[in-house]
Amino acid sequence: MSKLYNIPLMVPDIRQEDIDVVVEVLRSGMLVQGKWVEKLEEEIARYLGVKHAIAVSSGTASLHLALVALGIGLGDEVIVPAFSFVATANVVEVVGAKPVFVDIDIDSFNINTSQIEQVVTEKTKAIMPVHEFGLACDITKVMEIATKYDLKVIEDAACALGAQENGKFVGSFGDIGSFSFHPRKAITSGEGGILTTNDSHLANNLRMLRNHGISYVNDSISFSTAGLNYRMTDYQAALLVSQLGRFEQLLKTRNEYARLYNKYLGECDFIKLPMVISNKRHTWQSFHVLVKGDRDRIVKRLSNLGIGCNLGAQCIPSLQYYTNRYGFNGEELYPNASLAYKQGLVIPLYPSLVTNDILTVANELKKISHE
Ligand SMILES: *Cc1c(COP(=O)(O)O)cnc(C)c1O
Repeated sequence: MSKLYNIPLMVPDIRQEDIDVVVEVLRSGMLVQGKWVEKLEEEIARYLGVKHAIAVSSGTASLHLALVALGIGLGDEVIVPAFSFVATANVVEVVGAKPVFVDIDIDSFNINTSQIEQVVTEKTKAIMPVHEFGLACDITKVMEIATKYDLKVIEDAACALGAQENGKFVGSFGDIGSFSFHPRKAITSGEGGILTTNDSHLANNLRMLRNHGISYVNDSISFSTAGLNYRMTDYQAALLVSQLGRFEQLLKTRNEYARLYNKYLGECDFIKLPMVISNKRHTWQSFHVLVKGDRDRIVKRLSNLGIGCNLGAQCIPSLQYYTNRYGFNGEELYPNASLAYKQGLVIPLYPSLVTNDILTVANELKKISHE
């Protein structure tokens, strides 16, 4: 049975010109990290206004490498928001440290900075805030707390390339910024990620760690540390460089579609719209609303019509591994994260939609929410 609509949740914006560049790299025979990766790193660093960018194989690899480079491991604690993609906490577990969760603010879906200081202990080494769905968290406040307690800050900006607070790009505030190029993000290389930092020593460390711990001194190779292979391929980097050329235009379209959703869904009592904050540039990586009633029923009804939608992120402490390990009662400890996990819904927003698609999704969602 054919469906009424064909509006997937996400379609990457890959154009012929992007494909041509990738084919050119493939024909050259130079596939692994090379001049295109270097070009990508230069362009991202320039765009964000940071000194260094280090490309890696995914957003998760990027977060993992950040922790390793900062020497965070066994016995350490890292403060993370309770509501995020599970990778944010998993990487902390994987290095042997303990993620310490803080609830979110229900309007912004970002870490509630007024609850951070309560969980700082002698073991706390870092705060890893997330700029959820493309909206900057209160990063200035996070930096103040980090300075007060001498903590490192790793910004999980996986879904927030281009987001700003007071005109400054996320990923340029903390010790390290971390981005993802998964197909659900605004530009993509399939898998891919990038780290940013203004610290040259850290940048060198990150470069070594992504490449087996190898360093070069006066052209001679030295195996200086125990590293990994987290390199990005050159054809992935070329795909990203090509998309970067129109990135600001893509953000403009996203912003326009978000404005339309806000307008069309504005009078619906059953849907809580995402927050718009005047000093923060939202990239609308995801248009995430809270619905009333049975969210999973709404997902099913929309899917049956051919409209892709999904939940936004997880209440991480409530996931099987974390409840088994720490015995959390997520709903009691993190009420806002639990609410967002249960009632959150992401609807389609990406540049290849047309304005009529936005109207269609908004109207069907309103109808179904009222049923
Ligand atoms: C997408 C995402 C990640 C993981 O990125 P991958 O490239 O898929 O590994 C981590 N954190 C957040 C907040 C994300 O949205």
